[in-house]
Amino acid sequence: MSTPLDLSKYRNIGIMAHIDAGKTTTSERILYYTGRSHKLGEVHEGTATMDWMVQEQERGITITSAATTTFWKDHRINLIDTPGHVDFTVEVERSLRVLDGAIAVFDAANGVEPQSETVWRQAERYHVPRIAFLNKMDKVGADHEMCIQSMREKLNANVAFAQLPMGAESSFKGVIDLIELKAYIWHTDDKDTPPKVTDIPAEYLDDALLYRQELIENLADFDDTLAEAVLSDAKVTVEQLKHALRNAVVAIKLIPIFLGSSFRNKGIQPLLDAVVDFLPSPLDLPPVEGVEIEGVVKSGKRSPTAEDSFSGIVFKIMTDPFVGALFFMRIYSGTIKTGEAVLNTLKNKKERITKILRMHANDREELQTASAGEIVAVVGLKFATTGDTLCDIHAPIAYESMKFPDPVISLA
Ligand code: GDP
Repeated sequence: MSTPLDLSKYRNIGIMAHIDAGKTTTSERILYYTGRSHKLGEVHEGTATMDWMVQEQERGITITSAATTTFWKDHRINLIDTPGHVDFTVEVERSLRVLDGAIAVFDAANGVEPQSETVWRQAERYHVPRIAFLNKMDKVGADHEMCIQSMREKLNANVAFAQLPMGAESSFKGVIDLIELKAYIWHTDDKDTPPKVTDIPAEYLDDALLYRQELIENLADFDDTLAEAVLSDAKVTVEQLKHALRNAVVAIKLIPIFLGSSFRNKGIQPLLDAVVDFLPSPLDLPPVEGVEIEGVVKSGKRSPTAEDSFSGIVFKIMTDPFVGALFFMRIYSGTIKTGEAVLNTLKNKKERITKILRMHANDREELQTASAGEIVAVVGLKFATTGDTLCDIHAPIAYESMKFPDPVISLA
């Protein structure tokens, strides 16, 4: 029996990046640290864990699944693979629409490149709240000021530093957290030890206070408490700042910038903290609306609760050596059970779900039920293709019409 879900502790996120910015290494680092911090088995809500691909374990942790679940600080993070395609494909669109938030990764030595503009516009189009990660801060030419400038100019984005670097290029030794006013200092060459958390070294303090004030003043445009604090010169607490930043990220008013190097343990744990602190949970977003398809289904809304009628979108189909086709689905509302029949609205067919799986980096977990907000892989469908809506037989809804919108993005 599943434990009750606390959806506020779910983060369904993707990592978006142009080719070579470091999406793969960042994803692997995330799985590495979250895997270490939370051993599978302690959290099992399901009934069984099967061996995941053996060669995968031998190679180490990599994402081979369209969605991988993991944990960080008591939060479930579902990492959804976002294809890093240059072109605007339906596959990219589909994976974007099932995300609640994203980390946009940039190469800190290159700033905004034509391909990162494409990825950014895709996220804008699907209203994906995001935080930015300037990766490769250790690389020759890494320049966070150049990056923020190019994000402002080329992406027309309201961005602000949430962290500042300590040292640059090969002497990049840590980051200053502008929200909590503390420093994270890396352990050189030791990727297993978490960074040392200290007070801000004196030589960085003036800059830290200056940039913190810049962040506060930017947020004051969207937050009354901070606006009052700025006007009356009052101190802003960490909680007030976090609260305002979270709201601004969720509403896509401001995108905070974090920094690091995914090569080693540089900036990944603070980045994970930021995912938990600032990116939305399924509950923070408006209910999803179904579209009307004449003669097939009326429009409607579903709330992200386990109690509402079931609905979900199949966003990716993968072939699995053990069970055949795996249909990755984002559940938007309600609950599904193994063995249950559901309606595939667009195909106008009944489908039966014979297995529900939750994919971990090196394991999979079989569930009896799954509910709103979750990303699962189901088995047993006969007619589904990507983009199909599955729903309660007695409460039909469709999230996508037959025709997918035409691409609007072209490469610069
Ligand atoms: P992806 O194409 O976005 O998935 O990028 P990868 O993760 O495969 O990385 C692209 C290249 O950049 C690889 O050669 C990595 O070794 C390198 N790389 C990734 N992260 C860093 C970093 O933090 N610093 C430096 N110097 N190189 C990095």
